[in-house]
This record gives sequence, structure tokens and C-alpha cells, in this order.
Amino acid sequence: MIRGPVARISLSAISRNFQSVRKIVQNRPVIAVVKADAYGHGAVSVSKTLLKEGASCIAVAYTGEARELRDAGISAPILVLFDRGDIREYFDYRLIPVLYSTDTAKALSHEAQKRKTTIQVHVKVDTGMGRLGLHGKHIMDDLLKIYGMKGLAIEGLLSHFSEADLSDRSYATEQLEKFQKIKETISRKIKKKVFSHIANSAAVLSYKEAYLDAVRPGIMLYGYSPFVKNHDAVCLKTGKGRSACMNLIPVMTVTTRVLSIRNLPKGTPISYGRTFVTKKQSRICVLPFGYADGYSRLFSNVADVLVKGQRAPIVGRVCMDLTMVDVTGIKNVRENDEAVLIGKQGSEEITAQELADKAGTIPYEILTSIGSRSQRVYV
Ligand SMILES: *Cc1c(COP(=O)(O)O)cnc(C)c1O
Repeated sequence: MIRGPVARISLSAISRNFQSVRKIVQNRPVIAVVKADAYGHGAVSVSKTLLKEGASCIAVAYTGEARELRDAGISAPILVLFDRGDIREYFDYRLIPVLYSTDTAKALSHEAQKRKTTIQVHVKVDTGMGRLGLHGKHIMDDLLKIYGMKGLAIEGLLSHFSEADLSDRSYATEQLEKFQKIKETISRKIKKKVFSHIANSAAVLSYKEAYLDAVRPGIMLYGYSPFVKNHDAVCLKTGKGRSACMNLIPVMTVTTRVLSIRNLPKGTPISYGRTFVTKKQSRICVLPFGYADGYSRLFSNVADVLVKGQRAPIVGRVCMDLTMVDVTGIKNVRENDEAVLIGKQGSEEITAQELADKAGTIPYEILTSIGSRSQRVYV
């Protein structure tokens, strides 16, 4: 048996989600975010699909991820969001670095001159995320310094929202205004229009004013909303993408097969720590996945899987490689039957959002942890 569950990745769902984005942002350029191996969906196949659909650029976190895409034959522009790494790679692989310090800018400028070439770069400013980006009193000085460096072709200015849930937009508005001001000032000084982008999925779904010259969605391409609760309510309130939220299609389905079934008498403790004890004669399935497959131990005694189209509750603690579910009320369950961790079976569905709510986290974490450890199949 191959280790762990199987993650089926629907590339047609990726395509449809991408087209939903395009429709919402009225055909603005889309910089598709595929960091963390496309949120656990596999960056190569996902990127190829997104580019075929018309993504203008792919964004990754680190140069290693970009190299993988180049090695797979992807020649489209790749934006590297975070890495400082070995700057020679930006030239060797034709990558577009996001600059957030004058030091890196200097090093790139130096290398570009040495190679008698020009490198495209985007520059990031921190407008309130408190993570990366030029910041503090010297933003304008630093920006001007970078704009003045030889060998750099600055083709974009970006920032990132702190708020992923835009039901309250006040902070995002502050950030956007700050960003616009910086952009206008620099634009005036260099006497050129500046191409700018700030919109993540949350902004795409509910903050039209932030679309600017391009958008940079991630999670919605994979079929999930960034809003913590009441997705539809947030979309509705902002009058924008209710249908967009509703139309997003979860891309990943995760399944496994029943390893063993046992009939156990009332009073039998299940798994480590005996946190569950059967209350009656029970039928318990052992499933071949656990926290080593990214299925959080926080799901112990709280999450469900689907078997025969019905919900089977996890009983006892999730182990490293095994998890038990109670199928007492479900007829005709046999060994080797399919069990669904994420996805639909019959009329029931378990989403990454449901699992996230149960573990007190967000779908991003569920998808990256389970997706990256499952065997992937593209459908
Ligand atoms: C991850 C990320 C995004 C995409 O965010 P989503 O919430 O997944 O849409 C956009 N920009 C940057 C800089 C990011 O790190």
C-alpha cells in the first residue's frame, strides 16, 4: 500500500475558479499565487493549468519553487515573493524578485551590471501587514534609491493586506490609502505610471477599489473563501461576489480505503489515552492515515469522514498512521471501502473549511498539510 491518502486534484475546477476570478476583476491581469506547492495541490500541474487559462504571471514564495516550475518547462513570468537567497538564480532562471530591502536591490543591480543586462523586479512596501516590505520614515528615500539603481527594471509596486476577513474594511482602507499615496508620490517623482497590485483573494471577493492594475489571488483558485465565518454574508454585504463565493469549486478531494473493521462490545476503549469508550456494541473502522499525513490530531473525537455516503465520526485520538471511525449506524461497510476525508460522497460533503473550523484553523493550513503529504492524482 502506498503511504497515506490520495488527493484528487481537479484541474477543471482550477480552470473554473480562475475564470471566476477573471470575471470578478473584469479581465485585469491575474498574478496567480502557487506558493507552498500550490497550497498543497502541486505547483507544476496547477501552474500549467492557470497559465493556459490566461494567468499573466505565477507567484511563488522561494526560488526553489520557481526552479521546479522552470525545470518542468514553464516559461511564463514568475514572481518570487519572499526569497533573498542566491541572487544569481534570478538571472539564470529569469525570475522576477520582489524587493523589500535596498541591500538586495544593490546586490541585484551589481550583478545585472556585471552581466551587462537588466533584471525585472517588483518592489514591496509594508503598508501595515508588519511582515516584509520597505517601511518606516525612509520609504520614499529607499524607493527613490532603488528606482535610481542601474540594471533594475522596476515593473511593479506591491503591498499586502493584513486583513483576510474584510467584513470590517477600516484597516484595509488605511493600508490601501497609504499604498496609493506612496504610488502617486513615486509616480510623480519618476514621471511614469507605476504598475501596482495589492489584492489577495479577500480583496478580489469584496474590495473592488483595491483591484488596481492586477490582482494576486491564492486561496480562491483552490475553491475556498478566505473569510473566516459567514462567507456569503461578507460577500453579500459588500454587494460583490456572493455568486462568486458560491461558485468557487473545491479543487481537492482526499480519500482512503478502510483498512480493518472490528465489532467491539460496549465499554471498549479506543486509541491512545482511552479518550473514547464505546457506549454500546459498536462497529469500528481503522483507516490508514494519521497526523503524519497532515490529518491533525486536533480532529480526534471531533471530525467526521464519509463512508457509504454517511458521516462516520472519528473516535479516540488520531494516531501517527491510523485513525478510527465509528460506522455502527452505517450498513454494509466492508474492508477496502472508500472513506472520504475531504470531498463529496453521496449527498454528504466534508470541506476543508469544516475541518478548519473543527481544528480552530483556516482552510489554507488544512489544504497545505494534507495536500502536501497525500499521493496526488490529477483528474
Ligand atoms: C499568499 C499571498 C497572496 C494570496 O493570498 P490569498 O489569501 O491566498 O488570496 C497574495 N500575496 C502575497 C504576498 C501572499 O503572500
